[in-house]
Amino acid sequence: MAKNRYRQIEQIEAKENTGSYGAWRRGFCGQYRELLIQSRHNSYKALVKTLTSKGERITCRKGCTYCCFHYVAVPLAHGMVIVDYLHNKKESLKQFIHNYEKWHHKGYDISNIIDHTRIQAFSSSMPIHDIIAVTRPLSMRYLETNIPCPFLVNNSCLIYAVRPFPCSGQYSVSPPDWCSPATTEHAVIHQLVPDDGDLLQILQLADPQLMLYEVTLPIMIYKLLTEGASSIIASLYFENRTNPRPNG
Ligand code: SF4
Repeated sequence: MAKNRYRQIEQIEAKENTGSYGAWRRGFCGQYRELLIQSRHNSYKALVKTLTSKGERITCRKGCTYCCFHYVAVPLAHGMVIVDYLHNKKESLKQFIHNYEKWHHKGYDISNIIDHTRIQAFSSSMPIHDIIAVTRPLSMRYLETNIPCPFLVNNSCLIYAVRPFPCSGQYSVSPPDWCSPATTEHAVIHQLVPDDGDLLQILQLADPQLMLYEVTLPIMIYKLLTEGASSIIASLYFENRTNPRPNG
């Protein structure tokens, strides 16, 4: 079973590297990854500067994994970058596939409900605070499943360098245990705010279709590994009846 799955992933990887689409995909993933790292670096430096001026410091530490039990969504553009990274780290890819099957058992159904609710809410132009009010109880239900992210192995993230924005965009300044769902304390969390210039570069690189299609991280990655991005992109552009090739 696992052998067949890896063979299928290898076939999709070969397809994703073929011809002008393959060249475009590789170039896109390389540029997006660089911008991602640059944007994180700049916004992290800015956050540390602000916190230091207020006498606060970040308390997040390696091995602290409370965040990795939360619902995390990722846009198609970022999912493609993660898959590109995994294709160059086959051991991590295998660990993800192994963990995904366990995750699927407890996490798939609730994630699917959250994804559909979010898609409906965004497409109806619901105000952002109403979207949060609708999705927050569902995210709490996800947290109650107590299922770790399939990328979490030995308390470390397999894709740390290219982890999604929700994973890298929040920092605690309160005691780490305050992030535990078991505590009644309220963690004090600060968000990273991307530099306007960095954000603009990312938005200029990635076509809006690649940023707006967003689903649960494990579902997105598994789908990209087993079906490829080209078929998802084609269906998005077909539905919207626009140019089938994003950014050239
Ligand atoms: S991608 Fe990494 S940092 Fe994000 S939830 Fe998964 S294991 Fe944690």
